[in-house]
Amino acid sequence: MINFQYSRATDVADAVRQIAAEPDAKFIAGGTNLLDLMKDFVERPSRLIDITRLPLTTVEETPDGGLRIGALVPNSDLAYHPLIEQRYPLIGSAILSGASQQLRNMASTGGNLLQRTRCAYFYDIATPCNKREPGSGCSAIDGHNRMHAILGASDACIAVHPSDMCVALAVLDAKVHVAGPAGNRTIAIEDFHRLPADTPHLDTNLHPHEMITAIELPARGFASNSSYLKIRDRLSYAFALVSVAAALELEGGRIKEARVALGGVAHKPWRDRAAEAAMHGQAPDAATFRRAADLLLQNAKGYAHNTFKIELARAAIVRTLTQAARGTPQVQSNKKIQ
Ligand SMILES: Cc1cc2nc3c(=O)[nH]c(=O)nc-3n(C[C@H](O)[C@H](O)[C@H](O)COP(=O)(O)OP(=O)(O)OC[C@H]3O[C@@H](n4cnc5c(N)ncnc54)[C@H](O)[C@@H]3O)c2cc1C
Ligand code: SF4
Repeated sequence: MINFQYSRATDVADAVRQIAAEPDAKFIAGGTNLLDLMKDFVERPSRLIDITRLPLTTVEETPDGGLRIGALVPNSDLAYHPLIEQRYPLIGSAILSGASQQLRNMASTGGNLLQRTRCAYFYDIATPCNKREPGSGCSAIDGHNRMHAILGASDACIAVHPSDMCVALAVLDAKVHVAGPAGNRTIAIEDFHRLPADTPHLDTNLHPHEMITAIELPARGFASNSSYLKIRDRLSYAFALVSVAAALELEGGRIKEARVALGGVAHKPWRDRAAEAAMHGQAPDAATFRRAADLLLQNAKGYAHNTFKIELARAAIVRTLTQAARGTPQVQSNKKIQ
């Protein structure tokens, strides 16, 4: 049993004040990841600062036609929000492919971005892990690495980021609004998560004591031509082996704009602007999509147990782009269960 203090934040400024005053404290939102980590002794916060009563639970339209999603909007509410269903179906599809309905009811938008990797060694404090204990080594590189990275990994860590929602946010160029001791700032989703390099203990570019207050979606939701495909060992309640978020704008039978992000393959949602640019002006057909997949995966590298992911990703990219082009997205679920 770990002893810890508990307090409730009264507003965002109070939350930031409390965490700045006690560096080993942690915010708790839905608790669906943090409490598991505490039970496994991976996280040992001195205090839990409960942010669940803060007024960050609304989804609002922004003056430029986008949406601002409060950090405490539950994942279920977001997936089934009418504006998300109509204008950003990619987000709903990605969220509904993850976890279970009960978990999605508890999980928050901000917490989803900050969930930690599911690398089994990270959760097992008896094994070396550079992410949990910097300098101790990486058990996965020569160990059981079936779920691990094929892109952007380092000699220090080959873990992947587990979020589905973040892959859709990456394709839509979302922004993350944060509040901290130095004031408020906005981080592009592309710059929010980090590659492991030699500092795998740092998952994101959040500064110490900052909290996420909202996610902002730009006006363009690619509602007509987008798709999220998640390949996993079971059809539900499993993390991605590979996932793909694709969004296309078509004009006169050609691709005007193409965006693709991969999940389950790297320490952050993976985008490659050169692969996207190579599709511009081309016909939305299998040959174009195969060339884009080849470009996206040209630097992919497998380990002992996950080389299969490279071909899996190639096929998934082509299939997801084809679904997006045809306007026949993957349907994850259409019923809300309370
Ligand atoms: C069995 C299981 C299966 C799952 N399957 C999937 C899946 O398939 N796909 C998927 O994407 N996810 C999956 N998840 C993960 C789930 O989506 C996350 O656990 C959830 O989104 C985290 O949100 P939370 O509010 O519960 O975060 P918490 O557990 O409360 O917090 C997580 C971290 O974020 C910090 N934090 C929370 N809110 C803020 C904030 N506003 N500002 C700053 N820091 C904050 C906390 O301090 C903590 O470090 C699964 C989880 C479980 C337990
Ligand atoms: S892959 Fe990363 S999280 Fe997993 S054991 Fe290696 S250092 Fe730890």
